[in-house]
Amino acid sequence: MFDRRHVLGGLTFASVAVMSRSVQAGNVTTQAGPRFAVTIDDFRFEDGPQQNGAARHRAILDALSAAGIQAAGLVTGKHIDNVEAGSHLAAWSEAGHAIGNHTYSHAYYGGSDPGDLGADIDRVAVLLAAYTTQRPWFRFPYLAEGRTVEFRDRMRGVLRDRGLRNAHVTIDASDWYVNQRLLERLARDPGADITPYGDYLVQHLLGRAAFYDGLAREVLGYSPLHTLLIHHNLTTALFLPRILEGFRAAGWTAVDADTVFAHPIYQAQPDIAPAAHSLIWQLAKADGRFEARLRSPGEDGPYEKPAMDALGL
Ligand SMILES: [Zn+2]
Repeated sequence: MFDRRHVLGGLTFASVAVMSRSVQAGNVTTQAGPRFAVTIDDFRFEDGPQQNGAARHRAILDALSAAGIQAAGLVTGKHIDNVEAGSHLAAWSEAGHAIGNHTYSHAYYGGSDPGDLGADIDRVAVLLAAYTTQRPWFRFPYLAEGRTVEFRDRMRGVLRDRGLRNAHVTIDASDWYVNQRLLERLARDPGADITPYGDYLVQHLLGRAAFYDGLAREVLGYSPLHTLLIHHNLTTALFLPRILEGFRAAGWTAVDADTVFAHPIYQAQPDIAPAAHSLIWQLAKADGRFEARLRSPGEDGPYEKPAMDALGL
């Protein structure tokens, strides 16, 4: 349908829009609302309040199973380099969920002196090789791809050399910050009511999803297949069923990660530097017309702090 070499060489902005429209036109099923896949970063299994690592993982698997969707897990090597974590990853893979590479060290590659990304990727690739649902997907820690054009292109070359694709996030958010606030609260007050944290998280994620989908419709002219980023943490374990129900009630349809990452938009390589944040943020930045709506960073804890403080969370 399209020339793969051209795509891998870097899509122009216009070609992403045109190809995606043709993909949609050929799709016999029509979806009323936006669609998204669940992508979960930084699998961690250490024990914590409320649920130990095994229970958190089981709760996440159960929520995905109940929703009937295949998710993607982007795993950091240093957190899964032990026998127990290996068994949890095996359960994830056996349930049909995809696995991608998120480096071994979770280093920040958006700085002035980025280290050896290739070695960091290769070190975790060895750990993932045994899982049949491993995919050639790579996600940058902190969604930071390179500060300068030179660094960015070097990073892109490291991925290309390994046959990896950037597992971009379109719906970025600060679920990790809500989780951090909940953990701080439980440390002070183990019996605290956790429900309002779920309320806040669901509304936060829906708000960011609406923002990025609205921006995408203006930048691209259509709603792309989205990737929602959440983390393998307590808030995901506790609230994933509520998150999925909240999205459903707001008109979103959850679909498989394989379906979403097959969309040509995930081969886009926006010509911006620094290259970071949501893919929609990057495409809007490259477009140039949306400067006033692009805060930097796209998402961060301080954006949520005043509202959470006001709610006593
Ligand atoms: Zn991460």
